[in-house]
Amino acid sequence: MVEGPRDAYICSNCVDLCHNIIQQEKRKASGLRPLFHKIPLPREITEYLDRYVIGQEHAKRNLAVAVHNHYQRLTHADRAEPDDVEIEKSNILLLGPTGSGKTLLAKTLARVLDVPIAIGDATTLTEAGYVGEDVENILLRLLQVADFDLEAAQRGIIYIDEIDKIGRSSGNVSITRDVSGEGVQQSLLKMLEGTVANIPPQGGRKHPEQQYIQMDTSQILFICGGTFSGIEEIIKRRIGQKTIGFATENVAEETANERSEILRQVTPDDLVEFGMIPEFVGRLPTTATLGPLDEASLVRVLTEPRNALCRQYGKLFELAGSELEFTDDALAEFARLAIKRDTGARALRGVVEELMLDVMFELPEEHRKGRYVITGEMVRGETPIEPVANEERRKESA
Ligand code: ADP
Repeated sequence: MVEGPRDAYICSNCVDLCHNIIQQEKRKASGLRPLFHKIPLPREITEYLDRYVIGQEHAKRNLAVAVHNHYQRLTHADRAEPDDVEIEKSNILLLGPTGSGKTLLAKTLARVLDVPIAIGDATTLTEAGYVGEDVENILLRLLQVADFDLEAAQRGIIYIDEIDKIGRSSGNVSITRDVSGEGVQQSLLKMLEGTVANIPPQGGRKHPEQQYIQMDTSQILFICGGTFSGIEEIIKRRIGQKTIGFATENVAEETANERSEILRQVTPDDLVEFGMIPEFVGRLPTTATLGPLDEASLVRVLTEPRNALCRQYGKLFELAGSELEFTDDALAEFARLAIKRDTGARALRGVVEELMLDVMFELPEEHRKGRYVITGEMVRGETPIEPVANEERRKESA
């Protein structure tokens, strides 16, 4: 509480709120300051995404166009005459296996954009009144990202991860309600369509006596991401393709390509069969699919992005007064080990960390400093990891 003269008090929430009202009024008074400095071109967006995300061109293009149009629509809506054409928003569904870069795409987008973007998770949500979070909490997060500037938040972007986890459970024959599936879809649907949502400013559960912030979601762009594991089977059944049981030499690679080919043919009907309600699917007109990453892409993930794992380790070694290098063979071996774990690029970190643990443990000690070259044999555990100088000494003495 901020104390004023006599018995006047104002709480911090009200101070924040008033501050925003004054800012918004000022902005209106100054003749509608342009909403953004510049509308990024789709090509600029994909070029930026390329620095952090390997491959996934299809998804990048879809996202870039949707985001660009989102900006265009907002500027247009700001100046439009009453009977002008109204551009509708086109929310996006990102569909792809785990560890293929869905969340990474959303996070990278958040860095380039001039609009606030919040990232939420559908698995924690439940229908109002049950244990879990209300869907409004995602809106609250957006508001927080926008520094409680309601106007900016109402033009923001929301990414909701794990959207497939709120599929209707078709096997649910019990008489209890499905509070985390269809119920959540219904509440999310309202948000996607555009509604004035009541957000409890402190987050958490809605409470009858709480003061709400009213937020209009009609201009917010929604991006939903999900793995939809098992949807390939639904698609295959529809297009009448059967899996034939002849193993070829390169099974892993072939199925990876095959899977992304099949995924690309996904239709709204498949999503409905998966357990999404038709209205919900209808509100996500653009579906962008991501393919599983193959060995070559995983090697690129290890080395190319700005904060690639190899670069991070390189930096750590540098800080410890040493040097680190990986041979191509080692990188390929890492990728092969990661593919075996079947969690996409997500497995890479675990694989590399496991191998490097012992080295990192001893590295700060004086006698372990030096230049390290990690080879394929070392990754396979055939030779111990040692600084180049030590290794030569060992060979000489042998
Ligand atoms: P999901 O598709 O399951 O949301 P994430 O985006 O969370 O996967 O990916 C997990 C991690 O894997 C990321 O933090 C990133 O380091 C790495 N990764 C996944 N896909 C890519 C990609 N296409 N390019 C670069 N890194 C990637």
